[in-house]
Amino acid sequence: MARIVMKFGGTSVADVEKIKNVARRVKAEVDAGNQVAVVVSAMSGKTNELVGWADEISPMYDAREYDVIVSSGEQVTVGLIAMALQSMDVPARSWLGWQIPIKTDGAHAKARIKEIDTTELDKRMNGGEVVCVAGFQGIAPDNRITTLGRGGSDTSAVALAAALKADRCDIYTDVDGVYTTDPRIVPKARKIEKITYEEMLELASLGAKVLQTRSVEMAMNHRVRVQVRSTFSDAEGTLVVDEDEIVEQEVVSGIAYSRDEAKITLVKVADKPGIAASIFGPLAEANINVDMIVQNVSEDGKSTDMTFTVPRGEFKRALSVIEGNSAKIGYKELLSTSDVTKVSIIGVGMRSHVGVARKMFETLAEKGINIQVISTSEIKVSVLIAEEYTELAVRALHTAYGLDAE
Ligand code: ADP
Ligand code: ASP
Ligand code: MG
Repeated sequence: MARIVMKFGGTSVADVEKIKNVARRVKAEVDAGNQVAVVVSAMSGKTNELVGWADEISPMYDAREYDVIVSSGEQVTVGLIAMALQSMDVPARSWLGWQIPIKTDGAHAKARIKEIDTTELDKRMNGGEVVCVAGFQGIAPDNRITTLGRGGSDTSAVALAAALKADRCDIYTDVDGVYTTDPRIVPKARKIEKITYEEMLELASLGAKVLQTRSVEMAMNHRVRVQVRSTFSDAEGTLVVDEDEIVEQEVVSGIAYSRDEAKITLVKVADKPGIAASIFGPLAEANINVDMIVQNVSEDGKSTDMTFTVPRGEFKRALSVIEGNSAKIGYKELLSTSDVTKVSIIGVGMRSHVGVARKMFETLAEKGINIQVISTSEIKVSVLIAEEYTELAVRALHTAYGLDAE
């Protein structure tokens, strides 16, 4: 007997028929003698609709009310899945985040899970009941409803698996595993059998939304065995594992892209100590995440250009912070665009191979794609390019690193 957490994403619970299908999958695990906790997302498209309604009422909404609204999609699906299980004679009940409770911090719309009290869930599971948990939601210290950021049901599932000391956390979705890149834009993408926590963390944070970044962080910290697999087939999924479980390591394991980028250049800022602090200090105070940064070589020793990127959602705010501090910073011109994409290659094999980045630059050059900004870490190289070349770049790199399926 094993204890497992099964998480079903939006497309897996998109309508009543699909919810019945999910219930059948859960029943099969119960019939096999396993203890099961189910975590569900809202029906696909529902959360977007709810976010849209909130935006329509007030773009400057109160984040506490936003969370009340957008968490409601999961309340519907968790009730439906519990009901579907009951109708198959599987003992089950639904749990909203606050009922467990799943305690979070007070950062509404992007809350972090602090603690999950599993006393009651443990008891119920030991007694043969399936506990059905609404993903994406929790409760803040002041008793207000919180949500965990878009895609947050993955994190609910992994956190629950860690708290329940589950043997496995299976993430059921509309693809049958983690691929070498998004199979929607590269038909030749290949399914990865096993991927390291570290690589999965980079893939997720650099744009592959198959798992929410925080869920991978949490899995890595608590050593949760995560498997990504399809709700609609019995194909083997992808296991996220420790590096030593992987026998043969590719140099580049995956390619990710993110259109959630905007670029800002300050032309002719003074080339003197303190200038970076005068730009990035106010941005940090405004809670704006700066990602890539380049400072150009100073031509005359007096002035230089500074380019950096921010998430698209924070683009306008970043511009107004810079403009508000223009006198202190002192620049000649401010250039900005959101027509950019970040494309990244990821692989732990990079640590021990040379020439990996060069191949990336050569491949893009051959396609006539200009690189605007570069950033690297031990196991990834990211470049910023014009958005119109996203597909071309990802496909060319996928081929260049030998990742295409035969
Ligand atoms: P769910 O609603 O089940 O949480 P998501 O839409 O959040 O599903 O995540 C699944 C999607 O992630 C896939 O449909 C796929 O388009 C996308 N995706 C992006 N990169 C990858 C990748 N490397 N491997 C698999 N899927 C990926
Ligand atoms: N329903 C939420 C979203 O769409 C959470 C999730 O699906 O993981 O972001
Ligand atoms: Mg998701």
